[in-house]
Amino acid sequence: MAPNRGRAKDVVSIVGTAKIRCPGCGIERACELVQSINTRADPSAKQRLLGGELNVLRCACGRRAQLAATVLFHDPDADFLCQVCPGGGDAMIRGAAAFERSGATGTMRLVPSLSALVEKVKILDAGLEDWALEMTKVLLLASLDVRDLDRVLLFDRVDPGTHVIRWVLFGDGDEVPANVSSSLGAYQRLAVRTNAKPTRTELQIDRAWAMAAVRTMITAAN
Ligand SMILES: [Zn+2]
Repeated sequence: MAPNRGRAKDVVSIVGTAKIRCPGCGIERACELVQSINTRADPSAKQRLLGGELNVLRCACGRRAQLAATVLFHDPDADFLCQVCPGGGDAMIRGAAAFERSGATGTMRLVPSLSALVEKVKILDAGLEDWALEMTKVLLLASLDVRDLDRVLLFDRVDPGTHVIRWVLFGDGDEVPANVSSSLGAYQRLAVRTNAKPTRTELQIDRAWAMAAVRTMITAAN
């Protein structure tokens, strides 16, 4: 099934069926495959995405496997487009070209995985700016004194009562993920620095982007 190439305003929910070979038992199974989500037209697909139930093969042998597929997420009310480009690399280049052709005007993002899309959607729903949040992550990781700044740290939610951001920090191996929190105020101080805000052509707002942005900010302050 070809990814949606229509204009952004015409993005419709695309649902098909794919034949997937189970990585557990090797038997081919039919599996529902969602390649495009329009949150206005199909809010249930968004709920399945957030619940980790989208594009999952559930085999009779008991194996559960996440399908690596191109997924275009469109929230017309927030004017937000995000495309999952599995594996990055060439898929990212194709995703960027599709955005270019689409003539879309809102916020556009490319991410390498469905879990990265889930985080972007949670950030959007919380009313936060992903770029300022990614910068917050870098500063938070540096303050936590973890050995490498590439550790996976995922946004979970904002706690409105205590004005803190809740995060989940993943360990190196089989360690149980840790709950971490940071002040919402520290994020807000970054978010008002609009000179750090990405331009329209910056589509991958990830750790690498944030490391460079923080470096630029620190250099400018000195
Ligand atoms: Zn199986």
